[in-house]
Amino acid sequence: MKIAVCMKYVPIIARIQFDYEAKTIIREGVPSEVNPFDLLGLVRAVELKDSPDDEVVVISMGPPGANEGLTNCVALGADRSVLITDRALAGSDTLATSRALSLALQREKPDLIICGRNSADGDTGQVGPEIAELMGLPHISSARKLDLSDDGKSVVAERITDEGIQTLQCDLPVLVCVTEGVAPELYPNREQMERAEGISAEEVTAADLSADLSQFGLEGSPTWVDEIRLVEPNRLGVFLEDATPEDAAKQAADVLRRRLAELTAADSDPDSWSCPPL
Ligand SMILES: Cc1cc2nc3c(=O)[nH]c(=O)nc-3n(C[C@H](O)[C@H](O)[C@H](O)COP(=O)(O)OP(=O)(O)OC[C@H]3O[C@@H](n4cnc5c(N)ncnc54)[C@H](O)[C@@H]3O)c2cc1C
Repeated sequence: MKIAVCMKYVPIIARIQFDYEAKTIIREGVPSEVNPFDLLGLVRAVELKDSPDDEVVVISMGPPGANEGLTNCVALGADRSVLITDRALAGSDTLATSRALSLALQREKPDLIICGRNSADGDTGQVGPEIAELMGLPHISSARKLDLSDDGKSVVAERITDEGIQTLQCDLPVLVCVTEGVAPELYPNREQMERAEGISAEEVTAADLSADLSQFGLEGSPTWVDEIRLVEPNRLGVFLEDATPEDAAKQAADVLRRRLAELTAADSDPDSWSCPPL
């Protein structure tokens, strides 16, 4: 059984900054971490290993700095790591990213591919489903629980839907996008990190994946960033502390009633265009 985990090395959210001219996230000099959902996916992949023949390989596409994230994954139990890194990949949108990842995954021939539900920075949630589509694989999204069937030939996953929880069984090979609950959030200790630091990632270039480089990078990206802007939250952020649930519900209802009255008054006043924030 071979499990591949896709890992994006993302800037720590609280430290993210934007280049408004270039319309990109500034990554240089910003501390990064293994994307939180990918960390859970990796921990679950390692838990699913059942025999010495089983293998977990973690794959990332990114600049050389992503090696640090891969080392973290090896420290947590991945057997191997692969870094797809090449200037030809710069400017890739989700489709071009998924193309590169799917070509690298095809070389690995995993039985199970695990992705995170979404990344903490780009946050589109598109890459997992796109890889599945490009590889012609079935795909299970938002899995909060992931097991192998007793015969090891399929996965059993619980996925979160708008209506509740759905349990699905699907034959391998399959791609599963995981979310909270699938595994505990673990971090490597110093010993594990020291052991992993001796195991370098295999580097793969765009040319290793395909002779047609036009499918990667800006040229291979059908979408573009038109504008980026900051949306300032305008909530008051009222905390209802030391209240019983009943009191808290009553206070929240009072605030909402007052807010509705203010909005209604503002609506009926033709001169008033501004509403106090909630
Ligand atoms: C026009 C355009 C240009 C862009 N140019 C750049 C650029 O120059 N530099 C840049 O850094 N970004 C760039 N981006 C952003 C880049 O396309 C996304 O970061 C990338 O496609 C992943 O999308 P996402 O973050 O929404 O991941 P999601 O779809 O939210 O991620 C879901 C899951 O997919 C997997 N995954 C996603 N990305 C990777 C990865 N790189 N490696 C391994 N697994 C992964 C992970 O398991 C993750 O949990 C650009 C985007 C656009 C639209």
